[in-house]
Amino acid sequence: MQVEVVAVGTELLLGDVVDTNSAWIAQHLALAGVDVFYQTRVGDNVERIGAALRLALERSDAVVVCGGLGPTPDDVTREALAAFLGVELVRDDAVLARIRELFDQRGRTMPPSNERQADVPVGAGVIEQRRGTAPGLICPVPAPGGSPEATSPVSSQVVYAVPGVPREMTEMVTRAVIPDLQARMGGRSSIVSRVLHTWGVAESALAERLAPRLEALDAAGNPTIAFLAGGMEGVKVRITARSGTVEEAAVVLDTEEAAVRALLGRSVFACDGTTMEAVVGGMLQAAGLHLALAESMTGGLIASRCTDVPGSSAWLRGGIVSYASEVKFDLLDVPKGPVVSEVAARAMAEGAARVLGADAGLAVTGVAGPETQDDMPVGTVFVGLYLHGDTDVAHLRLAGDRTVIRQNAAVSAFDVLRLRLLDTHSASPGGPS
Ligand code: ATP
Ligand code: MG
Repeated sequence: MQVEVVAVGTELLLGDVVDTNSAWIAQHLALAGVDVFYQTRVGDNVERIGAALRLALERSDAVVVCGGLGPTPDDVTREALAAFLGVELVRDDAVLARIRELFDQRGRTMPPSNERQADVPVGAGVIEQRRGTAPGLICPVPAPGGSPEATSPVSSQVVYAVPGVPREMTEMVTRAVIPDLQARMGGRSSIVSRVLHTWGVAESALAERLAPRLEALDAAGNPTIAFLAGGMEGVKVRITARSGTVEEAAVVLDTEEAAVRALLGRSVFACDGTTMEAVVGGMLQAAGLHLALAESMTGGLIASRCTDVPGSSAWLRGGIVSYASEVKFDLLDVPKGPVVSEVAARAMAEGAARVLGADAGLAVTGVAGPETQDDMPVGTVFVGLYLHGDTDVAHLRLAGDRTVIRQNAAVSAFDVLRLRLLDTHSASPGGPS
């Protein structure tokens, strides 16, 4: 089944409001097994909204229109729908009573302008409003309107209208639009997905490693694999399975997850939102180890993320923000010399473990920019790790601005520790799944 999204609002065209609604709707339709091939943004104008609907219904089975259901004169989605369908708008008394009730509940009198929100195109169904005053609409499109390209078994096409206010839109799409689409698709199928978090491998390289699976899956169509890049916590791989029941879909997911993990190996660090620090903390705790930190360029970011994990006192001793060179020299016994260096990172890791009485010491020194330091380019990072009497230093080159480099340095440091713990302790490689 193919569905299009039409976001209505002149403010969207002017760039004053970013169209997050279309993104949200597309994501959730995808999870419901619905294809979205087109998204349109159109201003608050009856003719142009009509033109957008006409075009959308030439190539899709259904359209979700968001925005323009408010009480102000520029909110014309209802009028545009009626004009497009060639029907009248009729004021619905039950809807009007509901709007009055919502105002009463807030101790306010309904302004006359809100009465318009009770106007419903003849033949349309109403989606009850729960969070705002505007109800949604379900408008069947009279035949003929189907196109040869339309792929679904629906008997006729349909246009849904939902409010533009994101919290009203999300509630209505979840409660009414998606279930209605699923019913039209011929009964519910269960869609389940699982997200594997990776670190240290670029999206293109992940795609190469997964190429054999991606090809096989493209042919089969179920499950599917998608890469979710962006964000600062690494590339994520989402596996989505569709089946008759949730249990069946979960079995498909388990099988596919195992296949993906076999190809991606240790770059998968977690599953479904588990954070890197939670994974590392769990491994430290399982191994009965305590961690000490010495942070320079990350300024306490790593310590802060550790303490985000509930129960981290079981494995975190503490951290030293050794920002000034003297602190590195005096407190951590870093030899006098360049402080963005392998030597400094090594001494910091050992110093932190010694001063704070920990089994493991993790240290970060580097250049977050914008200025270079010690003749080292921006993005240079040394991660020192002391564990079981051995100290290793990883030399990284990170890209991005100051914020991105510092965040990436923090996650990279955790990852250095994670990989070392995987080598030395038989903890589970990908965290809970
Ligand atoms: P209202 O009753 O508030 O007028 P409405 O259905 O008429 O609701 P709009 O007037 O189009 O909706 O939008 C109301 C607000 O919701 C906008 O000012 C904007 O902040 C937000 N909004 C609208 N459309 C979008 C969108 N596509 N993406 C993100 N936010 C949006
Ligand atoms: Mg409005």
